[in-house]
Amino acid sequence: MPECIFCKIVAGTIPAERVYEDEKTLAFLDITPVNPGHTLVIPKKHAADVFEIEEDEWKAVMHAARTVAHMLEKSLGAHGVNVTTNNRPAAGQIVFHSHVHVIPRFDGDGFQNWKGTPYVQGEAQKMAEKIRNANA
Ligand code: AMP
Ligand code: ZN
Repeated sequence: MPECIFCKIVAGTIPAERVYEDEKTLAFLDITPVNPGHTLVIPKKHAADVFEIEEDEWKAVMHAARTVAHMLEKSLGAHGVNVTTNNRPAAGQIVFHSHVHVIPRFDGDGFQNWKGTPYVQGEAQKMAEKIRNANA
């Protein structure tokens, strides 16, 4: 995809601080890190998001994300990582080339995860059934 910024990073026509690469994936530093070392893992083959990406490409991305998580623990002493991915605008996606964020986390770094709201009585069962039916 000629106009895709992450395809340009794969092609090497715009710069990125690369930290890991294999046959199907590339990992590089996010330019606006939540914590220093915040890394993006992408498929080299363009796909917009988790809905569009082929299964073997997605597996390769998740495999690489796991490798990067270990690298961040080893290199930075990260106490934990967030492995997240935004898909489509409703979920906050800004760059439409599928990517997984691997964010190093440190005890007491102050970032809060989303706050959940418990289901009311019976709601969880109905919700699970609705989702299960989509796989029929
Ligand atoms: P999102 O699509 O919401 O997952 O966000 C896209 C992420 O890509 C943001 O965290 C940006 O900081 C990051 N980003 C955008 N352009 C670049 C770039 N040229 N190099 C590295 N990271 C980038
Ligand atoms: Zn692309």
